[in-house]
Amino acid sequence: MTTETQERELTDGFHLIIDAMKANDIDTIYGLVGIPITDLARLAQAEGMRWIGFRHEANAVNAAAIAGYLTKKPGIAMTVSAPGFLNGLVALANATVNCFPMIMISGSSEREIVDLQQGDYEELDQLNAAKPYVKAAYRINHVEDIGIGMARAIRAAVSGRPGGVYLDLPAKLMGQAMDAIKGQKSIVRVVDAAPDQPPSPESVKRALEVLKSAKRPVIMLGKGAAYAQVDAEIRELVEKTGIPYLSMSMAKGLLPDNHPQSAQAARSYALAKSDTVLLIGARLNWLLSHGKGPTWGGTDHKDWAEKKFIQIDISAQEMDSNVPIDAPLVGDIGSCVKALLAGLGDFQKPAAEWTGAIVEKREANIAKMAKTLDANPSPMNFHSALRAMRDVLKTRPDVYLVNEGANTLDYARSIIDMYQPRKRLDSGTWGVMGIGMGYAIGAAVTSGLPVVALEGDSAFGFSGMEVETICRYNLPVTVVIFNNNGVYRGCDVNPTGGADVAPTVFVKGSRYDMLMTAFGGVGVTVTTPDELAKALAEGIASGKPTLINAVIDEKAGTESGRISHLNPTSAATKK
Ligand code: ADP
Repeated sequence: MTTETQERELTDGFHLIIDAMKANDIDTIYGLVGIPITDLARLAQAEGMRWIGFRHEANAVNAAAIAGYLTKKPGIAMTVSAPGFLNGLVALANATVNCFPMIMISGSSEREIVDLQQGDYEELDQLNAAKPYVKAAYRINHVEDIGIGMARAIRAAVSGRPGGVYLDLPAKLMGQAMDAIKGQKSIVRVVDAAPDQPPSPESVKRALEVLKSAKRPVIMLGKGAAYAQVDAEIRELVEKTGIPYLSMSMAKGLLPDNHPQSAQAARSYALAKSDTVLLIGARLNWLLSHGKGPTWGGTDHKDWAEKKFIQIDISAQEMDSNVPIDAPLVGDIGSCVKALLAGLGDFQKPAAEWTGAIVEKREANIAKMAKTLDANPSPMNFHSALRAMRDVLKTRPDVYLVNEGANTLDYARSIIDMYQPRKRLDSGTWGVMGIGMGYAIGAAVTSGLPVVALEGDSAFGFSGMEVETICRYNLPVTVVIFNNNGVYRGCDVNPTGGADVAPTVFVKGSRYDMLMTAFGGVGVTVTTPDELAKALAEGIASGKPTLINAVIDEKAGTESGRISHLNPTSAATKK
């Protein structure tokens, strides 16, 4: 509550929306102004909040989503009505799918006209359009409900399984006036927005029994484990049990990737040969081959392997989603991990036969990969470019790494080691393209730390205009574009011999670096690993907006990266 507000006899929707956010320690809004939220944005800034303005709503919403993931507070995005709302909706759905807590607030047109479909400016029934894609959706119709409406949105975003929330604010609401004192009393400060949810004692006992009887156990850490921010307890569980562990991509760095118990470079072996898997905040979705089939030691893709699963998740519905879960541990990860630690007793670490076999496999795979990484082809390929980046990033474990693309994503995930939790931010559960600049801006604004956004040239295109935003706020973001002239690669040809290039091909030799210089940032084109390493180190050290256009062999790269099996192909196009 501001003194200024107290002195006014009346307050209005504009002020109460801002007051409700500030009362809940929300200090930043990611958005794009226009009718009817321009004055709301101005007021937010005037009242001391940070307004980060974007060039497209999807990027603002992605920034808010990643801010939510990194801080465990709801990230806030704000858009205009209908088209702005729809532009943001893709990213809001992506936040929900990834379990990131955020609230997208959109201004909307007059209810009476929308509901009778009488054709208002930017008319759309936004509340109902949002519902299938979010964890919760609310509309506030009366000024006195702003406090409660905001409280409901905050609690829905962060409690239980976090997710995206939509909050609809009709234009008329903002101008509604009410008594200032009553208005302040209507503001709700949410108490304990995401309460601990300890698991039941029986479920802990059951999980410990299964874990203790395992001969070849493995722990799988997912981004839920990273989100929970109980890094010390997770490390203690891994180290006290001596169980080899694997990390899903955004959980990399929760324990450093060079930890002696890491089975990362022996992933296929560990998944197929293990007899028991402890999943911590990781879903058995497509990214884990649904927990069945050859990846897990089964014979065909529907086969349930002889394997026991223990799963920690805050959502009870997640259990048995793909395969039977022998020991479900439903609760928040902090409480569940602490309960397991408390019951470990004289836990027998797995036999050296198992852990030794993993280490042997891991070292053999690392040695094999080293040969590929050390080759120095000209032009550069993904491997030699990534070797250069890996070596620079190893010296700066505090740097955030945003990563998207097909090959650029797949290779970077396995080649670039992470050493600190929540530093790797990528395409996530959908494997979506377009998160790049939004996540980079969200991470930089939230942390003030340097960010490197490693982008395939195609992936970058979805959010590329935000380089202007990066320059406008002078953010410490270095964008690296692996430029191989196209989607997947740049050497496909049009079989008809016509003038149009093939569907996967871009303008050859594009100078993405000039996009950054256009707005006052630093732009560099590099063609060798040494040049790339130098430019990257300089970009990070300078803290200046930098874009490195890294020219990669246009023949490097495979169709759809590592998920080409999901891409139906026609025999006809192979001719
Ligand atoms: P990944 O893609 O890394 O495998 P997923 O997004 O599939 O990770 O899984 C994350 C899981 O973590 C979700 O099922 C979600 O319900 C769960 N989760 C998120 N936060 C918590 C928490 N604090 N405690 C317990 N489970 C959580």
